[in-house]
Amino acid sequence: MHRKKWGSLFLVLALVAVLALGGCQPAGESEPEVETREADVVVIGGGGAGLAAAVTAADHGAEVILLEKMPRLGGNTLISGCAYNAVDPERQSKQGIEDSIDLHFQHTYEGGDKKGDPELIRVLVENALDGLHWLESLGCEFKDEVYTVLGALWPRSHTNVKPLGTGYIEALENAARERGVEILLETKAEELVQEEDGRVTGVKAVDADGKEVIFKARKGVVLATGGFSANVEMRTKYNPRLTAEIPTTNHPGATGDGIVMAEKVGAEFVGMEYIQLLPTGDPETGSLAGWLAPGVDQMIYVNKEGKRFVAEDERRDVMTNALFEQPDALMYVVSDANSVWEVTSFGETEEQLVEMGKVQKADTLEELAEKINVPPENLVETVAKYNEAVENNHDPEFGKKLLGHKIETPPFYASPRVPTVHHTMGGVKIDTLARVISKDGNPIPGLYAAGEVTGGIHGTNRLGGNAIADIIVFGRIAGESAANSK
Ligand SMILES: Cc1cc2nc3c(=O)[nH]c(=O)nc-3n(C[C@H](O)[C@H](O)[C@H](O)COP(=O)(O)OP(=O)(O)OC[C@H]3O[C@@H](n4cnc5c(N)ncnc54)[C@H](O)[C@@H]3O)c2cc1C
Repeated sequence: MHRKKWGSLFLVLALVAVLALGGCQPAGESEPEVETREADVVVIGGGGAGLAAAVTAADHGAEVILLEKMPRLGGNTLISGCAYNAVDPERQSKQGIEDSIDLHFQHTYEGGDKKGDPELIRVLVENALDGLHWLESLGCEFKDEVYTVLGALWPRSHTNVKPLGTGYIEALENAARERGVEILLETKAEELVQEEDGRVTGVKAVDADGKEVIFKARKGVVLATGGFSANVEMRTKYNPRLTAEIPTTNHPGATGDGIVMAEKVGAEFVGMEYIQLLPTGDPETGSLAGWLAPGVDQMIYVNKEGKRFVAEDERRDVMTNALFEQPDALMYVVSDANSVWEVTSFGETEEQLVEMGKVQKADTLEELAEKINVPPENLVETVAKYNEAVENNHDPEFGKKLLGHKIETPPFYASPRVPTVHHTMGGVKIDTLARVISKDGNPIPGLYAAGEVTGGIHGTNRLGGNAIADIIVFGRIAGESAANSK
C-alpha cells in the first residue's frame, strides 16, 4: 500500500516534468517554426481598395505584399456595375449637365441623412475626379457619356468600357505586378499582430496549404477586406430584419473578417446598423444582373398590380422600403426599345437576357402584362400617366425628377426584381489620412483602412456610384499613409 502511493506520486511528478519540458516531443526536436515574411506594407484584401493601396504604396517606394483569401482578386469590385461618381466638367458639359463639387457633397451628405463625416465626404468628392484620371493613367478606360446609376441622384456616374468591374481590377492588378507587389491568393488573414504599445506590426494568416504564416509589416498594415453583406450572422446582429431569406448581391467572401480583426485591436466602429438594400435584385440569385434599362430616367417600376409605387430616381433606402410594402415585395422594371444597353454593365445582351427568361419582351404593353401576369388595363394606364408626366416634366403622383423619355416604342421589356442586401455603410472609423481610429479616439499606429470595411462616409444611405469612388480615393490615401509611416 505504502509502495503503491509513492509509485503514483512519482508518475505524477514525471508527467509534470515532461509537460514543462515541452510535451511528449523526443529530445532534440522543437515546435515546428511558424514561417515569417516581411515587407514595408502588408495589404489585406485584393479588391479595388486593397489594390489601389498596394499600387500607391509601391509608388511611394514601399515593398508591398497583398493577401487575398479567395482564389482570385477582385472581391465585390470585380462584380460591381462599375459606376464611378465624379464631377467631371469635361464630360458633363458635352451633355449639358451642370454640376459642382458642392452639389456632389450635398447629395452625399444629405442623401446619407447627415450621418456621414463631412470631412471624409469632402475628401471623397474633391478627389474623385483625380482618382478617375489616375485609373485612366493605369490603362482603365471610361466611356465618354455619364449617366445616373440607380440611387446616384445626379448624372455624374461614369461607366467602364469593359464589363462589370473587370476594367478596374485588370488595370490595378497589372499596375501592382509591374511595381513588384507580391500578390498571394488563397491566403486568409486571421489576426492583426499588435505590440504592447498598441502598434500594429503585422498579420497572422493561413496560406493556400493551410500553413500559418506571419507577415511582418515594417511600416504599416492596410485593412481592405470589404463589407459584410454575405455574413448573415453579422448583418442580423446589426439589423435583425436582414435574415438569410433576403438574398445579397455580394460575392461570398464579403464576410466582415476585417471587422473582427479590427475589433480585437481596439478599433472604433461607426454606423454598423446602416446596411443598404437595393430594390433591384434577381428573385433567384439576388444579383443585380438581368435587366436592361441603362438609367433611372429610362424606366419605371410597377408592382404585381401593374402600378407604380415610388419615384424611380429616389434614394435606395426609400425605394427598397416602398418595395417591402408591395404584394410579395416583388416588382417589375418596365422599359422600351429606346432604353436598351447594347451590352449591360454586367456583360449581358438583350438577346441573352430574353433567351434566359430574365427579361420578358413583347410588342404591346397588353402582351407584356399577360407575360408577367399583371392586369393589362392597369399597366397601360400606368404607362400612359407616366408618359404624360414626362411630357409635362412633372410627376404629380411620385415626384420623380429625372424624367428622361416616354415608354412608347416597342418592343417593351419587363424584368422581375426583389429587395437584396447590397452594401454595409458602417465599419472601422478612419480619419482623412485613412488611419484607423481606436476607441480612445487616437489613431492606432501602423493600421490603415480603406473601402467598404470602413464606416462614416456614406451615412445611412450610400449614393449609387459613390462606393467605387470611395475605394479608389481612400485606397490611394491608405497606401500613401502606410508607405510614409514612421
Ligand atoms: C453586384 C454589385 C454591384 C455594385 N455596383 C456598384 C457600382 O456600380 N458603383 C459603386 O460605386 N459601387 C458598386 N457596388 C459596391 C462596390 O462594388 C463595393 O462597395 C466596393 O467594390 C468594395 O470595394 P473593397 O475593395 O472595399 O472590397 P472588395 O472589392 O469586396 O474587396 C475586398 C477583398 O478582401 C478579401 N478579403 C476579405 N477578408 C479577407 C481576409 N481575411 N484575408 C484576405 N483577404 C480577405 C475579399 O475576398 C475581397 O477580395 C456594387 C457592389 C456589388 C456587390
